[in-house]
Amino acid sequence: MKLDAKGIRYLSPDEVRVLTAVETGSRNHNVVPTTLIKTLSKLHGGGTNKFISDLAKKNLIAKVVNSKYDGYKLTYGGYDYLALKTLSKRETVYSVGNQIGVGKESDVLIIMQSDETECVLKIHRLGRMSFRNVKNQRDYLKNKNSSPSWMYMSRLSATKEYAFMKVLHENGFPVPKPIDHNRHCIVMSYINAIPLRQVEKVGDPGKLYSDLMDLIVKLANYGLIHGDFNEFNILVTSDQQPILIDFPQMVSINHKNAEYYFNRDVDCIRIFFKKKFRYESSLYPKFSLDVNRQFSLDLQVAATGFPSKLQKELEEYTEAIGEIPEKDSNESNSDNELEDSGSESQSDADLSEDSNSNKN
Ligand code: ADP
Ligand code: MG
Repeated sequence: MKLDAKGIRYLSPDEVRVLTAVETGSRNHNVVPTTLIKTLSKLHGGGTNKFISDLAKKNLIAKVVNSKYDGYKLTYGGYDYLALKTLSKRETVYSVGNQIGVGKESDVLIIMQSDETECVLKIHRLGRMSFRNVKNQRDYLKNKNSSPSWMYMSRLSATKEYAFMKVLHENGFPVPKPIDHNRHCIVMSYINAIPLRQVEKVGDPGKLYSDLMDLIVKLANYGLIHGDFNEFNILVTSDQQPILIDFPQMVSINHKNAEYYFNRDVDCIRIFFKKKFRYESSLYPKFSLDVNRQFSLDLQVAATGFPSKLQKELEEYTEAIGEIPEKDSNESNSDNELEDSGSESQSDADLSEDSNSNKN
């Protein structure tokens, strides 16, 4: 799924109204009935049908012929449009440039602000991967009326990532500076560094190794575990400083599997250093010995940016999907077509647009 930056400029205000109506309607309709789109658009001059068909031609909405009624769904393109329009209105995005990464569940692009500062736009794309593990899927859906929509889960994931990045940045951790957030998108500072995975040589592997282990322990002392601390999510600057990215899977050190996640992060680094730099050390942190909580960023995030209830919802979803392997950004994107797995989650109201409007 590529971002269609060109189409973004060419929508009339009436088309935007109709597109927004489809988004609003999808809060409680899997397929938004055409009649509801007309009501929500409030276009007294008429012409809604034409706008609907124009939006469908531009792939911003997609027609679904239902057994009960005909209607439309917002596509990723339509959702991208709405998010980018908001971000550009707030002047945190001025123009969209090249794609620099296709993460496991995201697209990452360079964007320009009006003063020509280069930043990064990360578009969360949960639901691009289908539920792989049928058993997990069944367990997951057991207690739910319906499976959540890609739109809702992507927004949840972006909201979480932004909340964690903000708290980490405010507390001096080496992470990108969070700039803005809307819907499934976040804007952050551009880090001029390369992923550890692509680093061929380091002057002092022992130093980088211990910096990374110190970072894992420091995070834990602040109440947090990254949960995906691997060679794809650590960027290394030219003076070999690590910068941490990718936070949708962070957990609290109070999480029931905290020790497992902590050890997994530690092991990722140990294994990678052994394989890539032939560097091994008998020194590595242990959860029970080395973690002494000093701060509670986990509680701070829960209180201010991302409530534990939503955290749990995202975790359940991630568990049901199963582990998704990371891949190099320059590998071609398999472009799994969007697998829309049903209607909007019931708890969509918890994540109202208001909670997305925080801007630094
Ligand atoms: P995913 O959750 O999909 O793995 P990531 O946040 O890890 O997405 O980003 C994917 C890739 O995009 C990274 O490996 C990195 O190459 C690039 N990237 C992400 N954020 C930034 C940033 N702020 N500055 C520079 N490159 C970035
Ligand atoms: Mg990543």
